[in-house]
Amino acid sequence: MKTIVPCPTCGESEDTPTLFFADYYDDHTIRAQCPLGHPVVAIVQNPKFETLLETGSDSLVLGQTLQASAAFSSARERAFEFATQVLLRRLGISRDVYRAMFKDMSSQSERQLGAFLTAHLAVTKTAFTLNQSIPKFRNNVIHKGKIPPPDEALSFCSSVFDEIRLVCEVLRAHCREQIGAVILEKNSDRVRDLKGSTRIATVSLFSIYSITSDPTPDSFESALEKYREWKQLFSENSVSSLMYFLQKNHKKQENS
Ligand SMILES: [Zn+2]
Repeated sequence: MKTIVPCPTCGESEDTPTLFFADYYDDHTIRAQCPLGHPVVAIVQNPKFETLLETGSDSLVLGQTLQASAAFSSARERAFEFATQVLLRRLGISRDVYRAMFKDMSSQSERQLGAFLTAHLAVTKTAFTLNQSIPKFRNNVIHKGKIPPPDEALSFCSSVFDEIRLVCEVLRAHCREQIGAVILEKNSDRVRDLKGSTRIATVSLFSIYSITSDPTPDSFESALEKYREWKQLFSENSVSSLMYFLQKNHKKQENS
């Protein structure tokens, strides 16, 4: 996984920090050197489900339908996990108690789904309606290796995106404070795991969806189109183009 990173050392001497592209993996941690040779350590601070949505979107853009469907499916499961943690925090359950419970369901997605549905009910007093078409398609891809045609993959990813967005809207409506607390705790863990590093930068992905950003996308199609536009600039590997794009979006948000 690649993302764009600012160099804090360059940032001390220039008006705009030097930006460059670096790899990160499951620990959401970047250890790299900027183009001028400064060592850079950074944390990608997005929740895991947003990272998986990004890699799924990358696959969609490239026409890799199986990989896209698999990544979106994983994003859905991690979104339920994240939501359960946030909802239980809203109910006063501490992180340690949550972890003690979760270890008995960490390898079983059906148990995790049941925990989410129950926690959702406890907080909102309403039942969450799952999209029943998602598991069948997902099982054909994950367990039978089905390589879906583009239209089916796009439709599946759109359904998953809508369900994740629905879950996130519940959290944004009922648990704003707890969303930030859970994300902050996770990133504190990542920083703690970087013991010995004195200067750690933070990075936010240009993800297809961000639970902490406003406004949220109107639809999957508009979100994917915006992401595709960003990837086209990314593939040119041109920092100046990227900076222009970011400034343009900043102005749009200011005017909205
Ligand atoms: Zn530098």
